[in-house]
Amino acid sequence: QAIVVAIDGPSGSGKSSVSRMVAQRLGLAFLDTGAMYRAATWWCLEQGVPLTDTEAVAAVVRELPLAVGVDPAGPTVHVGGTDVGEAIRTTAISSAVSAVATNLEVRAELGRLQREAIAAERVPQSFSHGRGIVAEGRDITTVIAPDADVRILLTASEEARLARRAKEVHGSADAEAVQATRDQVLRRDKDDSTVSTFHVAADGVVTVDSSDLDLEQTVQAVLDVVAQ
Ligand code: C5P
Repeated sequence: QAIVVAIDGPSGSGKSSVSRMVAQRLGLAFLDTGAMYRAATWWCLEQGVPLTDTEAVAAVVRELPLAVGVDPAGPTVHVGGTDVGEAIRTTAISSAVSAVATNLEVRAELGRLQREAIAAERVPQSFSHGRGIVAEGRDITTVIAPDADVRILLTASEEARLARRAKEVHGSADAEAVQATRDQVLRRDKDDSTVSTFHVAADGVVTVDSSDLDLEQTVQAVLDVVAQ
């Protein structure tokens, strides 16, 4: 019996690390849907498409030669054979990604690929990794897999989210690093909020607040929800 676990949350909630570790512990595949939006953004910039041209962006993303690897021990993202795993994590991509992710045709196209990837892990014949999948993003519990067996919204206070991002980006969570991160994180939150209401749990979605939990405790809290 396959299991689908959907986890949504804002940036800095610890969603990616937590989801990946949960997938590893449970022996499930892992799908980082944010990486797909980042890869689409990388591709548009690579193709020189102005991100304000919604038609051109949609056309280019429809032809996106994307391959995502769902092994939680080492998830991979390739575009046209190029490993973009690192290139999609730059601040340039983080600043540009909301413009691409708010394009409704892009969401339809990447949503289709995400549903396919999740569906493949539901049938034993096509299990790529374990017996099911953990998929994380912004709209997985609501739009992409509302029928998931477990649906979780991972939240954290703004303060905790900013501190985590500052540590990731600047290697420190002192006042200066937090300030440097603040504008970018809050702007992306605002831009993304036009797409989905990922700050509020939908009906039937369990909220896990990670503000006062470390990574291991958050993983445990999510595993407890899955076990219920
Ligand atoms: O999770 P991550 O920060 O890598 O996501 C990058 C961006 O991708 C988000 O800021 C958002 O614009 C977009 N995204 C989305 N829907 C998802 C996952 C990510 O719109 N399911």
